[in-house]
Amino acid sequence: MHTIKTIALVAHDNRKEDLTEWVSWNWKELIKHKIYCTGTTGTLVEKTLSNKLVDGGNIKLDITKLKSGPLGGDQQLGALIAEGKIDVFIFLWDPMMPQPHDVDVKALLRISALYNVPTACNRATADFLISSPLMEQEYTPAIKDYTNYINRKI
Ligand code: PGA
Repeated sequence: MHTIKTIALVAHDNRKEDLTEWVSWNWKELIKHKIYCTGTTGTLVEKTLSNKLVDGGNIKLDITKLKSGPLGGDQQLGALIAEGKIDVFIFLWDPMMPQPHDVDVKALLRISALYNVPTACNRATADFLISSPLMEQEYTPAIKDYTNYINRKI
C-alpha cells in the first residue's frame, strides 16, 4: 500500500446518513486518497465532498462509482479486492434489515477478510482507521500463503 490509499466506501440505505456525516467530518483526510463507492453511496459521498471543496481551489476528487450494490456493485467491489486494488474498506452495512443482496454482502465481507483488507463496519472503527498513522505511510498487509490450497491434489 502506498501513502495514497484506495478507500472503498459503502453504506446500506439506513446507514447512509451515518456515512455522510462521517465523510463530512473526515473530508480533509479523504480527499487525499482515491475513493471507490457503490453507486448510490458514491453519489452521496461525491456531493458531500464537493460541497466541502467549494472553496478548495484546484483539488480534484478522485472518486469512482461502481454499480449500485444490489445491482452488482458489491460484486464489482469484491473483484477489486481480489485483485488487490482496495487498501481500506469502510462498509456501514445494516445489522437490522435483511437486504435483497444479502448473499453479495456476505461474499464481500468474506473476500475482505480473506485478503486482509482493513475493514470498518461501524463508525467507531472507521474513526480508528482514518486516524491511523498507517494511512500516511507505506504498509504491506500480511497475506496468508494459499500455495498449499492452490496445489492441493484433486
Ligand atoms: P448503494 O449500494 O451504494 O448503491 O446503495 C450499497 C449496497 O447495498 O451495497
